[in-house]
Amino acid sequence: MSPNVGYQVKCILVGGRGTSENAKKLLAYGVDEVFVYEHKGFEGFKADCYTDAVADCIALIKPSSVLIGATSLGRSMAPRLATRFHTGLTADCTTLDIRENTDMIQIRPAFGGNIMAQILITDSRPQFATVRYHVMDRAEKVENPTGKITMCKVSDDMVKSKIEILSTTEILRQKSIEEEDILVVAGRGVRSEKDLAICRELAKALGGQLAFTRPMVENGFGDTSRQIGLSGRTVRPKLMITCGVSGAIQFTSCMTGSECIVAINQDPHALIFKYANYCIVDDLYKVVPKLTELIKNGREE
Ligand SMILES: Cc1cc2nc3c(=O)[nH]c(=O)nc-3n(C[C@H](O)[C@H](O)[C@H](O)COP(=O)(O)OP(=O)(O)OC[C@H]3O[C@@H](n4cnc5c(N)ncnc54)[C@H](O)[C@@H]3O)c2cc1C
Repeated sequence: MSPNVGYQVKCILVGGRGTSENAKKLLAYGVDEVFVYEHKGFEGFKADCYTDAVADCIALIKPSSVLIGATSLGRSMAPRLATRFHTGLTADCTTLDIRENTDMIQIRPAFGGNIMAQILITDSRPQFATVRYHVMDRAEKVENPTGKITMCKVSDDMVKSKIEILSTTEILRQKSIEEEDILVVAGRGVRSEKDLAICRELAKALGGQLAFTRPMVENGFGDTSRQIGLSGRTVRPKLMITCGVSGAIQFTSCMTGSECIVAINQDPHALIFKYANYCIVDDLYKVVPKLTELIKNGREE
């Protein structure tokens, strides 16, 4: 069990008008203090301005550890902050622990996912780590939140960006595979683009989305935003059905948080079966259409 080092949990929120409203939502999760940098100059993410604001807060409260979401925004900001404070940063941690001396144990896959490295920043503070979306459980709400919100002064320099936005294009937001409750994953056992239709049909019948292993993306069957694994996304759906996926560590290390895994593979020794709750040893070309038909008809056999 991890030692209790007695730390408080504080959050920093940076954003445009209305950001303090989000601070109230955070308190409900038992946070001790939320520092808010609210200014219309923070509307739209600008890495240099946001870094200035977060660095201002870090210099003020001198935290021992700083955790940042491994989102595109967080990934852009975390290295800038770590450099500014001349300290270490571990990207994409999958587990965090702490020692009694307050060294944070930052665990993440390394060397192509063949080992889980434990990384420590022993000589400097703060210890920076980014954590991928969905790899940890959401904090539970507390009944009577006692934390407080502190509005921080935003200086003119803080909102002066050296980044000039020349134009913006709005992209249609689709639910990402990280947010999806039901995923059907097509692996190399699915032989052609045409054959993908049976997996797509199954995903549609279940009201979920199609995702892929890396070779499928490399072969042009899907785009990288739908790739699960070390060089893709980490997912934790309620239900995952893998079709013709072998279960290489680079894939499984990013999906074992799924609530229920159903694996279809004709090889009884396939590694994926070590992680599956339900193992179907058979030809996916027989199983998947049958499963889709049963789901569509809403009956068991
Ligand atoms: C640094 C690095 C990063 C990587 N990152 C990722 C990553 O992000 N995501 C990722 O997925 N991989 C990644 N990989 C690749 C990974 O090692 C595997 O090669 C890959 O996951 C295998 O994909 P697959 O299971 O689709 O294919 P395969 O390993 O070829 O497996 C195909 C499976 O389909 C089964 N099969 C074949 N025909 C049928 C059938 N008719 N019915 C049922 N089953 C059938 C076979 O028995 C086999 O088990 C990475 C590798 C490295 C080195």
